[in-house]
Amino acid sequence: MGSSAVVRATSYCWTAGADLEERERVVATTDPAEKAAARAILYGPGGAGLFSDGKLNFSPRIGGAPLDVLDGPLHLELSRYVIDELGLDLAHPSVEVKERLEAQLFRGLDWELVPVPQAHIGSDYLPSVVRQLIAGFEDRILCGRRVVAIGQSDDGFYAETDDEVFRAENLVVAVGQAGSKFAERVARQFGLTVDPAPADIGIRVEMPSELWETMVELQWDPKIYWRVQSSEVRTFCTNPRGYVVVEYKRGFFSVNGHAKRDSGSDYTNFALMVRLPVDDPNEFGVRFSQRISNATGERLLVQRVADLLGGRPTTSIGSWRPTCGAYVLGDIRPFYPPAALEAYISVLSAIDESFPTFVQSGSIVYAPEVKLYSNRIVVNKNSFESEIPGLFFLGDSCGHIHGLTNALLSGLACARHCAFTPSMRA
Ligand SMILES: Cc1cc2nc3c(=O)[nH]c(=O)nc-3n(C[C@H](O)[C@H](O)[C@H](O)COP(=O)(O)OP(=O)(O)OC[C@H]3O[C@@H](n4cnc5c(N)ncnc54)[C@H](O)[C@@H]3O)c2cc1C
Repeated sequence: MGSSAVVRATSYCWTAGADLEERERVVATTDPAEKAAARAILYGPGGAGLFSDGKLNFSPRIGGAPLDVLDGPLHLELSRYVIDELGLDLAHPSVEVKERLEAQLFRGLDWELVPVPQAHIGSDYLPSVVRQLIAGFEDRILCGRRVVAIGQSDDGFYAETDDEVFRAENLVVAVGQAGSKFAERVARQFGLTVDPAPADIGIRVEMPSELWETMVELQWDPKIYWRVQSSEVRTFCTNPRGYVVVEYKRGFFSVNGHAKRDSGSDYTNFALMVRLPVDDPNEFGVRFSQRISNATGERLLVQRVADLLGGRPTTSIGSWRPTCGAYVLGDIRPFYPPAALEAYISVLSAIDESFPTFVQSGSIVYAPEVKLYSNRIVVNKNSFESEIPGLFFLGDSCGHIHGLTNALLSGLACARHCAFTPSMRA
């Protein structure tokens, strides 16, 4: 700690990354393949949510295992609170459309369409929503503070950045997917129980938007689950008329997507994810993505679906203009475990059977899509307090839940717990 400045704080938020204005400036003016842009997407106030698509899923079946950490009635109550507070226009999937799609699509495959009430804020509106959320306590959000260590002292906890030490009676760790390794390190250092999480690896499909319109009619982000031999393939993060983006995390690049509300591209993108049982999911995900980053010179790898199904590398995509410019053409097959590859190929073929111009139109896939979930840190249900009283793990970094809605719900549940626990109201 040496000559570091010491700050006593009970209700401050320290975040790595620049403030909102600077993040917006960097993302608007920097090549998306630059690490600075990729960092600005993930770090700072609003977190990874700031430049996300803003799809809010209100179902306890979506986003990890929310019911492991929130009772059903509390999940529902807090969801209603978020919907009211943000004035969300919630779309409820039509049972009629669901039944029609189930009767028409993917015949012969074992599959399920999960209806989810959803709201879509849009990446173009998210910065204003984040401003609304933090209004009144902006001065308590201390930007540019990457916490490098957390420890316990006689009167609570301390968090160290490179040149400061903050002290607090209670400490909340909510460092997102980008900080999952850090959260786990803290948990292990405190001797907390940490259960392994699975690894989700995927590819991101980009197709002409009119092709997926029937699916989007059901809901903005259709949740489809296919069972292919021993694997389950699921759609993740559909972006109708959206854009594919590149993310930089701890030494590798991966793909993601978003969509605006008022304008859009001519393409729809979504991920096909496969869950893999591996010993160390984080390590596996990092190494898997790094192999692709190393082979592509830190670009995404793009292959035409036609070439993937035909078993050959892609050398040309004709007049197709991928919505993400940071890519090289090639062959994704050598990088994926055979079971995952086989599962994607079965699903892509089934999509082509149900949507006949899918392959022929020149649709492409981007690699790698990877979700580095935190291993699951044991926390108390409904409060997110760990086995060490006063130390909380929220959102993506607790490992049990993923996504914007669940991050919001975990914050609210924790805040409510603290508000009703007399010793914590300071
Ligand atoms: C491009 C993109 C699109 C997405 N689209 C959607 C979507 O449509 N719907 C959806 O539900 N989810 C989406 N997600 C995922 C969603 O953004 C996250 O699940 C959500 O933001 C998690 O919230 P969180 O608060 O747990 O973590 P984050 O939002 O990641 O916030 C983590 C915070 O911790 C800070 N931090 C990290 N490490 C440190 C450290 N060592 N010291 C100090 N501060 C630190 C960061 O600066 C950041 O402010 C998307 C993500 C991306 C990247």
